[in-house]
Amino acid sequence: MRSLGESTRLLPAHSNTCRQLNGSVGVTTCRFCGESRRCLTRFSSFKHDFLRCDACETISRTSKAKYPGDAILRLLSKSSPGQKVVARFLSRFSRRGTTEHDQYGKQGEYFEWIMNPETQATGFVAVKRQAYFRQPAEVLNVFAANDVDLSSRSVLDVSGGPGTFAFLIKDRLGSLAVTEYHPGAVMGMQAYLPGVRVFQADLNDEWQDEETFDVVLYRSVVVFASDFRKHFRGLARKVAPGGLVYIYSALPTLGNALRWQYEDYTFNVLYSPSVISAVLAENGFRQVDYGESSEYRHFLRFFTPSEAAVHLYGVWNRLMPGGPRDFSARAFWILARKIV
Ligand SMILES: [Zn+2]
Repeated sequence: MRSLGESTRLLPAHSNTCRQLNGSVGVTTCRFCGESRRCLTRFSSFKHDFLRCDACETISRTSKAKYPGDAILRLLSKSSPGQKVVARFLSRFSRRGTTEHDQYGKQGEYFEWIMNPETQATGFVAVKRQAYFRQPAEVLNVFAANDVDLSSRSVLDVSGGPGTFAFLIKDRLGSLAVTEYHPGAVMGMQAYLPGVRVFQADLNDEWQDEETFDVVLYRSVVVFASDFRKHFRGLARKVAPGGLVYIYSALPTLGNALRWQYEDYTFNVLYSPSVISAVLAENGFRQVDYGESSEYRHFLRFFTPSEAAVHLYGVWNRLMPGGPRDFSARAFWILARKIV
């Protein structure tokens, strides 16, 4: 196993057996790896159903059309005391798609909050804030370890909100462009990133921009893509010959699925390294490096003690035949070069 900056390892091997499991939705073709006759195992959290492919291990998420929390929250919201209970204890159990979308539109405010040395943070927010400061050096180290000097390269940071990564790394690159899907986030970042081109683009829409780049970075964003294969088919044309793509993403573990179990926007698919690697190869890229982050050994690190208690729900998913067993919230990264 390779931690950032250490020795290389091979991608995890596929399981090549297909067992009928309790909780499976039957034998079918996986839409991510294309393997036919694979078992898709279903497991659930409060608001979502997850499907995990037995072959490639990729986990996708769909929101339940109905869940008991909807009715309970609606009932509580009818009275003033009930509204207080919801706001204080239960807000994360309500549908959060609109809230999360609005939060992405305020990335500018988030930028100031992160960069302010006086900012106090606890729990998940503190973990995330530390990561924002650490990421520029981590990315530079991966490229340096592969003898790539980024100081003369044109770099695209895909969905790079809130822009703190761009702010911290821009002087180390030849040039930098950053995308975000929410127009409000684009405007917010522009104010803090003079000399950096910031434009609106969505991983789930046709990519209109014409600029090509030497290096494209996907930092913790491929989980937003409902169909990364379709997205990358278009994006690959915008990478210069010999150019590089760096992808950092959460491994498809039970811990990572549960880490986002309250969220409605945050991730669509936890892609496995093998699926990402296959998509890169299909588009003329050769993998030159691979590693796994040794951080985030347990997903509960992201939650307060009271939230963590609720996550005992995850124990059932772990005990269920065919369910993923790994409670860690680790990540992987792949560096690949365009060879055709
Ligand atoms: Zn699959």
